[in-house]
Amino acid sequence: MADAPTPDFEHVPHPAPTPDAARDEALKDPGFGTLFTDHMVVVDYDADKGGWHQAVLGPRGPITLDPAAAVLHYAQEIFEGMKAYQQEDGAIALFRPDANARRFNDSARRMAMPELPEALFLDSIRQLVAVDRKWVPTIPGGALYLRPFMFASEAFLGVRPARQYKYILIASPVGGYFKSGAPAVKIWVARDYVRAAKGGTGAAKTGGNYAASLVPQAQATAKGCDQVVFLDAVERKWVEELGGMNLFFVFDDGSVVTPPLTGTILPGITRDSLIQLLCEEGLTVREEPYSIEQWRDDAQSGRLLETMACGTAAVVTPVGTVLDGDTEFTIGSGGPGQLATKIRNRLVGVQKGTIADTHGWVTHI
Ligand code: PMP
Repeated sequence: MADAPTPDFEHVPHPAPTPDAARDEALKDPGFGTLFTDHMVVVDYDADKGGWHQAVLGPRGPITLDPAAAVLHYAQEIFEGMKAYQQEDGAIALFRPDANARRFNDSARRMAMPELPEALFLDSIRQLVAVDRKWVPTIPGGALYLRPFMFASEAFLGVRPARQYKYILIASPVGGYFKSGAPAVKIWVARDYVRAAKGGTGAAKTGGNYAASLVPQAQATAKGCDQVVFLDAVERKWVEELGGMNLFFVFDDGSVVTPPLTGTILPGITRDSLIQLLCEEGLTVREEPYSIEQWRDDAQSGRLLETMACGTAAVVTPVGTVLDGDTEFTIGSGGPGQLATKIRNRLVGVQKGTIADTHGWVTHI
């Protein structure tokens, strides 16, 4: 399926694109996820018409959907999240888009959906960014967030994999992820809710995982925290990940621990990149389970120097404080640690083109 022939894009220009002055004004403070570019890509899939066909790059706008569309009933849906960066020399760069294409198809398989040929995924990204390139923010920390997604569009109420799907790509100029712009975040431990169990869908980027995280996330927010941290579903002991970020624990002996990929956490592309960068820094990175009790003990003893949260949206964000029930513990000074700052600068430098890309991670548009 991944090697199936890919349709050519039909280009439909926007009849009334956003005026330059209005766009540039909006790009001064884009926020996160509320501002959108002028265009989008839509590609249709029909199992009875040879698969993927009719790829259109056209004006962004509402889509019509039959009320019986399977996604509205059984949540057959997947998505990705990645960024296009304006580099110092004006070029526009994507960071490891091939990894997003692969993860998209991993998610598709788990949700009984057709794979999207990698070339079609990458082409859609390149073409949309090229046509909306003026929407890439130039403010510090800004980027064009790309949201590819696919859902079951077949009108059918039986519970089985749909035979029709839509792949859509939209783009949203963004600034920093956390409203507070906090140099270190405070997180809340979900004791009554889990995100994923072994054999479930935790490793897939599918909407249901995020729907299930909304109640605990709302509780975290009500308690003054930025994010929720989930524990494993069986023992409620092992630290898994945040609602939208993976975790790294940095110790005073030069070692770093990150929870292993056992199917219950999202295999983050930032996580994978950090593992490589940390090893190159001479640190020992271990992918192994780490318990919430150990986390508290290590923070209190000072053995734990830093905890870093990482993901496309927030890049590398230090975790300053953890709230668990009525008790709270602070990591290091509670502010950004040395390694988080260093590794964030390194990653951002590669993305922005100010540090040499020795891994071949950056693709120019
Ligand atoms: N975990 C979850 C649950 C996420 O939603 C994300 C964001 N995609 C991540 C981790 C980080 O993944 P990435 O580094 O690929 O953005």
